[in-house]
Amino acid sequence: MTESAKAIWRMACPKCRASDQIDVAATVWIRLCCDGSDVTQAANGDHEWEQGSLAVCQACGYSATVWDFDIENQPDPSENDARAERARNALEKYVAAKGEVFENNSSEIADLIADLLHLTIRIDQGHDPVESTLRLARLHFEAEHADEIEEAAP
Ligand SMILES: [Zn+2]
Repeated sequence: MTESAKAIWRMACPKCRASDQIDVAATVWIRLCCDGSDVTQAANGDHEWEQGSLAVCQACGYSATVWDFDIENQPDPSENDARAERARNALEKYVAAKGEVFENNSSEIADLIADLLHLTIRIDQGHDPVESTLRLARLHFEAEHADEIEEAAP
């Protein structure tokens, strides 16, 4: 079995995460001929690139530098993965507490959110606690979700 391009080059598209269609603008030696130039005639057949070289993901069209495509320089998606996993654990316990079978779907999430809103009006004495809770939750989610995308963009 061959290794993936991601494993070999430690590079992936910061936007779509594809690693098998990355083009890099490399420097090559060419032989100048009377009718043009020839890459195969050059004494040095190497090609080189550096952190600042342009890279393009042909899967989605995103372009940035090689440095940006280096997976070491991309945000760790595991933080939001961990948040989602914590929520899944809570959801599973919530469904079990209702005496139902956990199906891991968004309708169970909606039920949990609705029940949490019932809890909100019982513990929060502020003005319109349902709206402020939903607004705050959305703000947190959008900031955390945007971190993944924003840090990946140039
Ligand atoms: Zn891409």
